[in-house]
Amino acid sequence: MSMNNTAYIGRFAPSPTGPLHFGSLVGALASYLHAHQHKGQWLVRMEDLDPPREQPGAAASILHSLQIHGLQWHGEVLYQSQRLDAYRAQLDELMSRQQVYRCNCNRKKIQAAGGIYDNHCRNRHIESPPFALRVKVDGQCIHFVDLIQGPQQQDVKHEVGDFTLQRKDGLFAYQLAVVMDDIEQNISHIIRGSDLLCSSARQLYLFDLLGATPPKFGHCPVATHTCGQKLSKQNHAPALVDGDATNNLWRALHFLQLQPPEELLGEDVKKQLNWAIGYANLNAIPQQMGIVI
Ligand SMILES: [Zn+2]
Repeated sequence: MSMNNTAYIGRFAPSPTGPLHFGSLVGALASYLHAHQHKGQWLVRMEDLDPPREQPGAAASILHSLQIHGLQWHGEVLYQSQRLDAYRAQLDELMSRQQVYRCNCNRKKIQAAGGIYDNHCRNRHIESPPFALRVKVDGQCIHFVDLIQGPQQQDVKHEVGDFTLQRKDGLFAYQLAVVMDDIEQNISHIIRGSDLLCSSARQLYLFDLLGATPPKFGHCPVATHTCGQKLSKQNHAPALVDGDATNNLWRALHFLQLQPPEELLGEDVKKQLNWAIGYANLNAIPQQMGIVI
């Protein structure tokens, strides 16, 4: 009898704005381990939706680093840049259902209002570009139970307002693309950094709007600089040295508070991952960051 749980599909979805750094390794590792402990599949998707922010060669470099760290994915990598027609078609369809509308408000005005959009353009008629496309948000507060952070709720209608699905510069918004891709790839579990926790309610709203069953979410702590800033490519987190993969991996297991045995330090990455799949207790992953880098 096959032990494969075909219902479980997880994923790691980096944007190629720079090489893999420690913070993204932690996210990749947490989702990889969760998928493998559930005998599921683990996919990789490249979120290359924002060409001006991308760095040439970063996608290939991230994939290479994942492999060096033993984090091999199932199947083909999905590139968002190859899905533009699908995003366009979905927006056209939402437009015909009158669930999205044109907005030409400027960002400063919205930020001045605390970042909450007042749905100003819902009933306006805007003829000429540039304009963004926003989705109408109606209905109740969104509740969900995060696998790591516990019960969550957000009143998207009042705390966010109608949000952008296509930006004024024509780029598709992250929220639209990520939800459509999670649906396309039948993702059942999303384990990622807690910096994305605040996006989850909007994404659940879109899953519902698109008639899809939402995945389960789990948001693990993110690595920060000593100043408390999230370690990210935007604030120049150092790239991981691939030659240090065994150390990097052990540190990532330690960061997640999975208590890797000292004997694993310096061991082959496959051996470390096998230990973690077999013995690491993912319920031990803390809600907040464990240590500061
Ligand atoms: Zn507007």
